Amino acid sequence: MPPTPDVPHPARIAVVGAGPRGTSFLERLLAVIEETRDAGTGPSAPVVDIVVLDPHAPGPGRVWRTDQSPLLLMNTPSFFPTAAAAGTPGLRASSAGQTFDQWRMSYPDRAGDLDRTDYPPRAVYGLYLSDLYWEVTRALEASGAVGTITWERTEVECLEPRPDGGVRLGLQDGRTLEADALVLGLGHVPARLNREQQALRSSAAELGLDYRGPNLPAEVDWDAVPAGEDLLVRGMGLNFFDAMAQLTLGRGGRFVDSGDGPGRALRYEPSGREPVMHPASRRGVCYLPKAELETFVPHAVSLKYLVPEEVDRLQDEHGTLDFMVHLWPLIHRDVVRAYYFTMARTRPEVLGGAERAGEFLAGLVGQFEAAGRGEPVTAHHAQELLHTYQPGMPFLDIRALARPFERQVFDSGAEYQEEVVDFLAGVCAEAAAGEDSPLMVAIGTLHAARLEVKRLVAERRITDASRRRDVSGWFEVLVEGLASGPPLLRVEQLLALARAGLVRFVGPDPQFEADAGRSLFTVSSPQVGTDEAALDVHHGRWMVEAMMPANRVQQSSSALVASLLKDGTAVPYAVEDEEGEVLPGRGFDVTGRPYRLKDAQGRVHERVFVLGLQLASVQWGTAIAAEAGQDPDGRARTLGDADAAARAVWELLGR
Ligand SMILES: Cc1cc2nc3c(=O)[nH]c(=O)nc-3n(C[C@H](O)[C@H](O)[C@H](O)COP(=O)(O)OP(=O)(O)OC[C@H]3O[C@@H](n4cnc5c(N)ncnc54)[C@H](O)[C@@H]3O)c2cc1C
Repeated sequence: MPPTPDVPHPARIAVVGAGPRGTSFLERLLAVIEETRDAGTGPSAPVVDIVVLDPHAPGPGRVWRTDQSPLLLMNTPSFFPTAAAAGTPGLRASSAGQTFDQWRMSYPDRAGDLDRTDYPPRAVYGLYLSDLYWEVTRALEASGAVGTITWERTEVECLEPRPDGGVRLGLQDGRTLEADALVLGLGHVPARLNREQQALRSSAAELGLDYRGPNLPAEVDWDAVPAGEDLLVRGMGLNFFDAMAQLTLGRGGRFVDSGDGPGRALRYEPSGREPVMHPASRRGVCYLPKAELETFVPHAVSLKYLVPEEVDRLQDEHGTLDFMVHLWPLIHRDVVRAYYFTMARTRPEVLGGAERAGEFLAGLVGQFEAAGRGEPVTAHHAQELLHTYQPGMPFLDIRALARPFERQVFDSGAEYQEEVVDFLAGVCAEAAAGEDSPLMVAIGTLHAARLEVKRLVAERRITDASRRRDVSGWFEVLVEGLASGPPLLRVEQLLALARAGLVRFVGPDPQFEADAGRSLFTVSSPQVGTDEAALDVHHGRWMVEAMMPANRVQQSSSALVASLLKDGTAVPYAVEDEEGEVLPGRGFDVTGRPYRLKDAQGRVHERVFVLGLQLASVQWGTAIAAEAGQDPDGRARTLGDADAAARAVWELLGR
């Protein structure tokens, strides 16, 4: 078919950002082209040219660079991620592209000695993405529908909409490039420091200290941190574990099997070149380790209360949902049910033996079935019931686990250190027990619920105010800290380092400051050191923010994002809070899927599509990869989004 009359022939598609999202878009475009060819409706001559723009190698892009340290690991196992729709139900597979796990088995020479449950080095995932990109682009070129595909190694700095619906791109090298359709897969863009971070950076410059702001771990010069130096670290999530690996294994240290059980499984043999790390985070403890499992969600998990029928019923009755009022009571019941069912299966003695455990479960389920009230009432009745089976045992308070030391004070840093080590050792034992751990199955249930909530957010079935107050306000923090942690190995390594005196935990709610008198950074926790004199103050000449730059379009220092907002070509999604105040959201304002960009006047750019992180206002958890073999409207949503964008672009230009 000829192209639509208002579009030149061949039309040009520009893909800005060639990380996983840009690559998935191309893979989906290939699938669409192959579908039309098989249906006999494909073009007989090339109808589009494609230009891919990225200063980093296409496929891996910036995050998955293949030359990064092999010590930087993924936090999802080999069987999980994919950037191609192979085996994704409901999406037509293209002739090119495998899931990461398929690629790992097809190319063991490139993937190395990885098992399906291993956590791959990010550089290896980068090799997969590179292979995928080149395989897909070769297939597109061979398809007959695409004229040329070129990669421009440059950054796009600005964008001007053309009256005909196309765009003119301004490139870093001063050139301009015209495009008839545009896909923005910008991913992790740099961001300005917040006020506190700016103050710390300024103090560092004045006092001759070293301050490193939020960044990709692969782009931090870890070698610059001197041996033996005290390094204050803010953040105990995944970036912290990357820092830890670089500063220990990367300095020639070794972790050796201790022969002891989980929680004490490793001993550290230092090289003598390590700094001493002082990690601090609001919860006072690192993200919990992932359970040792064969699947991403434990087999034992099934949601009984947070089910589509109940959610539909609630929505019919109440309209757009409030997370706290409508969803959390269901999730809470699912989580505690999973916990006690697993306990009855694996540790019935805790509940007085198999028979009594069965009775307890029957009673608990009876309460849950009758429950029409929220968490406090459910937990109150369940606590009374539990008391008759195991007097004195507290009923599971999953939310308290996000802040395990909430109401405690510690006489000294040494006491706190011991407490954290004991707590984490206990959690490591649970993680090692995998499916047989009540705690890990409860956390897995929370994770499964998160996946459902992500879907509800994307379907805009939760009010903006509740999304802001509850989902971003506390549920995200809870579920990230409990269910999005590193592999167990990393927490064992952390414990070995703590025992070797190379890690000293700071405590909850840390306060970082620059001490001008002593020319040092300091950090302390109000809960550690019971009187002023005993306050456990950690100090050092180095401070690192172990976190990613904020994913907020308004805070972005990307030239492109800033210019889009300045020109009114894009606008942050407006969120109304409970008081009716309109606030800027994290991502761009866009239409529903396929996510077309909206401008400051609310007009839709029909030919500009957004994928990934800048959708943060209309989706939740935009960073994580698609899960192989899963629903493109759920756990593989990024593939569903890429597919929708590819179909829309083809509809506009390809016919
Ligand atoms: C350190 C780290 C570890 C992670 N680990 C995991 C994991 O283990 N498992 C998992 O599922 N997810 C993980 N993630 C999530 C990860 O974000 C996604 O898997 C994925 O990288 C997002 O893909 P993307 O293409 O949207 O963004 P990116 O990977 O950030 O790629 C975007 C690309 O756009 C380019 N770009 C940006 N602006 C411009 C411009 N103006 N002009 C031209 N090009 C531009 C960038 O150079 C970059 O190459 C991790 C993320 C990070 C940062």
